[in-house]
Amino acid sequence: METKLIQMDNIKAQKEALYAAGELIRAGEVVAFPTETVYGLGANGLDADACAKIYQAKGRPSDNPLILHVANRSMIDQIVAKVPDKAEKLMAAFCPGPLTLILPRKSIVPDRITGGLATVGVRMPENDVARALITASGVPIAAPSANISGRPSPTTAKSVLVDMKGKIPLILDGGACDFGVESTIVDAAGDKAVILRPGAITKEMLEEVLGEGNVVIDPALVGADSIPRAPGMKYTHYAPKAPLIMLEGMPTRMIRAFQREIERLQKEGHRVGVIASHEVLKGLQDLVPKDLMADYGHQGQLSAIAANIYEALRSFDDKDADILLGEGTTAEGLGLAIMNRLHKASGFQTIQV
Ligand code: AMP
Ligand code: MG
Repeated sequence: METKLIQMDNIKAQKEALYAAGELIRAGEVVAFPTETVYGLGANGLDADACAKIYQAKGRPSDNPLILHVANRSMIDQIVAKVPDKAEKLMAAFCPGPLTLILPRKSIVPDRITGGLATVGVRMPENDVARALITASGVPIAAPSANISGRPSPTTAKSVLVDMKGKIPLILDGGACDFGVESTIVDAAGDKAVILRPGAITKEMLEEVLGEGNVVIDPALVGADSIPRAPGMKYTHYAPKAPLIMLEGMPTRMIRAFQREIERLQKEGHRVGVIASHEVLKGLQDLVPKDLMADYGHQGQLSAIAANIYEALRSFDDKDADILLGEGTTAEGLGLAIMNRLHKASGFQTIQV
């Protein structure tokens, strides 16, 4: 199959391309599109056969449910049985935006996309191209991240092409994604709001709306032994091709710790790649060749780091580093989402510094 890539720099001038993309979705095909978080791999969310093509293109385990993307409130009412008060408040505050709510589903939503659960994940993206595509297709669009399962999510159309070339007919190119980490997933069906996946809408932001004490983090996310309630959180994820080890701790100790680890690994004959802040990389110039360094932004600037992290991991795909060292950030605020992804990318291999 030929994979077409269309630039969507001016959606008003690109009505025809959007119409054609909407037609593809209605015809049961898969279209990749930008959102403010990461690129999505979209299909008609009410058509089980169309969604089966998403699972196939990604190599995604079939028990891992898909999130339905909607453009307006009436689409939510089409798929959700009941919107609890808590969810109403969160929608008023954060939708459209990088928030997914887990809500009781209606039977119109195929079992195939919820992994048989009684709930459905719903998100209203803010990105113009995403909204225009959903509107043009006229149906809720089921969309996971547009990567091969287990790989870092794509935040540019070029990275989507690397993973999806020959597998899907169309990629809409809307440039680099703003946030760079997937949506915050909140189960709002029960007593307390439970964060199943951290993202750009932080625990602190949710508490501002619902009150302190009314928002909890799924214990499985912070290292406890329990099984995560978002089925997808139990799989290996976001992993670069070479193994990644994270260095975490005091920012002031980072350069010294990296130097020590790099020297040790190089002595063992490894080609070491480094994913780190501008500040740390500057201190490693004499040890690591430039092409084996990925700069994720300035130390402590979490929004920029989130926006860059997946492309930084992917930048080693065609390099010959056989081991990667990554610099950890704080786990506060947006740092919780960044470190959640980096811990999964590294299989929880961490050195405390
Ligand atoms: P992705 O589409 O790659 O961003 O992954 C979607 C995430 O949402 C996965 O971790 C899923 O397990 C999770 N998810 C989707 N629907 C539900 C649901 N009804 N209940 C709990 N988690 C869900
Ligand atoms: Mg994903």
